[in-house]
Amino acid sequence: MNILLEKLKFGQFETFPELAHAVSPRCFENDQGGIEEFSFRNNGGYGKTKEHVKWFLESIGIENCGLFLVNQVHSDKIFILDDPNLTCDEAKKISADALLTQIHGKPIGIFTADCLPILLYDPRLKVIGAIHAGRRGSEQNLLFKVVGEMARVYGCRPAELLAGFGPAIGGCCYEVDEDCVQPFKELFSAEKGWFWPGPAGKYFLDLIAVNKMAGEKAGLLPENIFSMDHCTCCSTRNLYSYRREGETGRILTTIMLRP
Ligand SMILES: [Zn+2]
Repeated sequence: MNILLEKLKFGQFETFPELAHAVSPRCFENDQGGIEEFSFRNNGGYGKTKEHVKWFLESIGIENCGLFLVNQVHSDKIFILDDPNLTCDEAKKISADALLTQIHGKPIGIFTADCLPILLYDPRLKVIGAIHAGRRGSEQNLLFKVVGEMARVYGCRPAELLAGFGPAIGGCCYEVDEDCVQPFKELFSAEKGWFWPGPAGKYFLDLIAVNKMAGEKAGLLPENIFSMDHCTCCSTRNLYSYRREGETGRILTTIMLRP
């Protein structure tokens, strides 16, 4: 099985041999040479999610490891995977929008289509994190809270953390009502250029800029925050976009400490 389109990876994470990570592309080439779409879905709409997750993980060197996902609910809840006996099915029932673990051999992941997927890594203490930072998670300051939790639970130092921002809807396409901008004004200075007026009283909101500010507020160094800067809505040939397509597939962003 070939992944047709190149998987999206963070060069900075690639420098750590103990890490496996990737963001899934939209399509891959199946064994018959046909082009198929990854059908990652939370709901039961597609039947192949399990199989496709397995193939995708194998393509990045993760074999015989179940993927730990949670029930994503646009919250600020953080799930700490610290029980080595917890099963993937049990984790799936936990409502949260961020996962943290220090356990090797347990890939953690999140599904998105326009929301911002964030991967975190502490190279000193070997702690990994995956965050589902959509508008609602971001307005609850989720990244900031996750960094705080990493410090509290594991003793991480924010200045040592690396944060990779995957593909999300860009400020180019993310048109929202004024009341969607308001909660962010309470968190961030309006002068910083993270929103701007659009047509008919609407605004464009830059989720990536907002999360960069949240990361820096939490103590991350600007040079340790890197973004793929792919707009999902501009590139539905390669990625999924809920805003552009409505009901559609999901992008899987995953990270694991190798066993
Ligand atoms: Zn765009």
